Amino acid sequence: MQLHLSTWPEVETYLGKSKAILIPIGSTEQHGPNGLLGTDALCPEIISRRAGDEAGFLVGPTFNVGQAQHHMSFPGTITLKPSTMIAAMKDWAESLARHGFERLYWLNGHGGNIATITAGFSEIYHGVTFGGAGNKPTLRCQLRNWWELPGVSDLCRQLFPVGEGSHATPSEVSVTWFGYPEVVKQAVMSPRIAPTGPVLNAEDFRRRFPDGRIGSDPSQASIAAGEKIVSLAVKGVINEFKQFATG
Ligand SMILES: [Zn+2]
Repeated sequence: MQLHLSTWPEVETYLGKSKAILIPIGSTEQHGPNGLLGTDALCPEIISRRAGDEAGFLVGPTFNVGQAQHHMSFPGTITLKPSTMIAAMKDWAESLARHGFERLYWLNGHGGNIATITAGFSEIYHGVTFGGAGNKPTLRCQLRNWWELPGVSDLCRQLFPVGEGSHATPSEVSVTWFGYPEVVKQAVMSPRIAPTGPVLNAEDFRRRFPDGRIGSDPSQASIAAGEKIVSLAVKGVINEFKQFATG
């Protein structure tokens, strides 16, 4: 069940049985020569929607732009100021809380978002406490990075023992291809496995990693691998969301 594909009476009925919602959160940033700009938003969205369909959870619209300043040398990347992202998360949370939602489970697809999401939670909690809920607010948030769901990173390493890397990975590209097989793209990777190293700023990123990959060979990506990763991640989300929803 997806919020933006539901009617208000359907959401009202859902609130009669559950106060929990799953929100995919990610980024719109370059993902190498064959990875989609939406990869970090699409991965949690694909997993969340399947988990929601399978287990009857409500899935919110995807918060699909995040912290991507260091990718700005690559066209198409969109980034938010941390303060903008925190303010937007707070507005989403307060809107949902006003309707009666008390558990917001944020499934994240971008490592660069983690610090800001955590700060967003602090802002949300501060708002509810001093907005009248006092020292016993009912609203609770949880952050999970999809690749940290039980068994998922082990599975990714098994599927791609060489060239998984850390950005534009074959695992994340596979997940998006499974979700959107109509946009599978092929590209020659040169070198086959991208270099690794630090990133000092957006210009430095493109100088060190000219095609946008870090340590990865996403030409290994496949729809079949994406299906395996998604099905394991969906199981993990369902288990964790159920506990969170009733905890
Ligand atoms: Zn990514």
